[in-house]
Amino acid sequence: MFELLAEKKVMRDPIHEYIHIQYKVIWDSIDSLEFQRLRRIHQLGPTFQVYHTAEHSRFSHSLGVYEIVRRMVEEVEGVKEHLSEFERVAVMLAGLLHDLGHGPFSHAFELIQNHHHEYYTEQILLGESAVHQILSKADVNLPKAVADIIAHRHPKKLLTQMISGQLDADRMDYLLRDAYFTGTSYGQFDLERILRTLRVADDRLVVKESGMHTVEDYIMARYHMYWQVYYHPVSRSFEAVLISFFRRMKDLYHNNPLSLTGYDMFTPFLKDEVVSIEDYVSMDEPAFMYGMSLCKKHPDAILSDLARRLLTRDLFGYLDIDNEKSVAEMKKKVEFCGFNSEYYFSVDRAKQQPYQPYRGKDSSMIWVMLKDGRIRELSDVSVIVQAIVKGEDKSDRKMFFPKSCVEVNHE
Ligand code: ZN
Repeated sequence: MFELLAEKKVMRDPIHEYIHIQYKVIWDSIDSLEFQRLRRIHQLGPTFQVYHTAEHSRFSHSLGVYEIVRRMVEEVEGVKEHLSEFERVAVMLAGLLHDLGHGPFSHAFELIQNHHHEYYTEQILLGESAVHQILSKADVNLPKAVADIIAHRHPKKLLTQMISGQLDADRMDYLLRDAYFTGTSYGQFDLERILRTLRVADDRLVVKESGMHTVEDYIMARYHMYWQVYYHPVSRSFEAVLISFFRRMKDLYHNNPLSLTGYDMFTPFLKDEVVSIEDYVSMDEPAFMYGMSLCKKHPDAILSDLARRLLTRDLFGYLDIDNEKSVAEMKKKVEFCGFNSEYYFSVDRAKQQPYQPYRGKDSSMIWVMLKDGRIRELSDVSVIVQAIVKGEDKSDRKMFFPKSCVEVNHE
């Protein structure tokens, strides 16, 4: 039995109205220093450079995911009976803690180091951390169970499906939250209706046929959010400059470690060693931005210029790539303007499939329960989803370079 709080706690939230907390171990985990750090990491990384109100944090998103999982566990018919109390608490904690390992400007930050955020999430849960202490004090088996659910290793499919499938609490919260905080309407869908039409069959969540159209809406919401928000070219430009900034710092450090004396917040990430949990947790966006403002005065002209660009939003321009020849020509042009193309030219590709029907894993697909009780995979029964799946994947390749090199129009 897990200890309950003397009084149920509620926290206000613009997406779910209230977040309800009943278990002490969940309340204590929220108070842990590793979870509090998520207040200092933007949920959407550099997107606030485009949508100026996208200031929400991983902290509020994580609470939102927890709340959706809590509602799945307590309100969806059949779930409570299917799970033990230990499993219910573990999956709610998995929802709360699934993003613990994110770093500043997550996507770009991941590209410039050896491990992904999933690796750090697991290190924090299983290693020497405050949150590990809290979980193991409540039950010694809890840290591993939570880590197993997040990493898709847990034998009970239903648990992993709630946290990361294609209709999971993580995606449902971030779509609604990101739409709200960017002020866009693309991400809207009817969460209440989805929750009301979910059922359990065969150790997995299925949607009743009557909820299928709401799920189609959710898939379309995802599609639009990707192209309008997540892959916005200005955010990608910020990331391109950020990656160059970090690459330059790494190169300077490798040539002469002393050249970065006084920039201690960055040094653990510049060595070719595994970063300790303590160093990793100390790195948040305020630390990163402070380091960047110090770099503005660094004697290296490239590093200081890239820092200045990030701080003043003097980002790179961009163009669609039609053919390989245009890439080579632009790179030459960048060099001709006097820029080092190692740091002032980059190419990236954004690609997205709003729904993937068969990826080998049952738990990641969306299942529909027909009126006669048969269970089918979503794209077998939804004409709209079938059209999306069969259609060509939309992909977008762009090159990024200093605006002064070429005359281009930008938003
Ligand atoms: Zn998340």
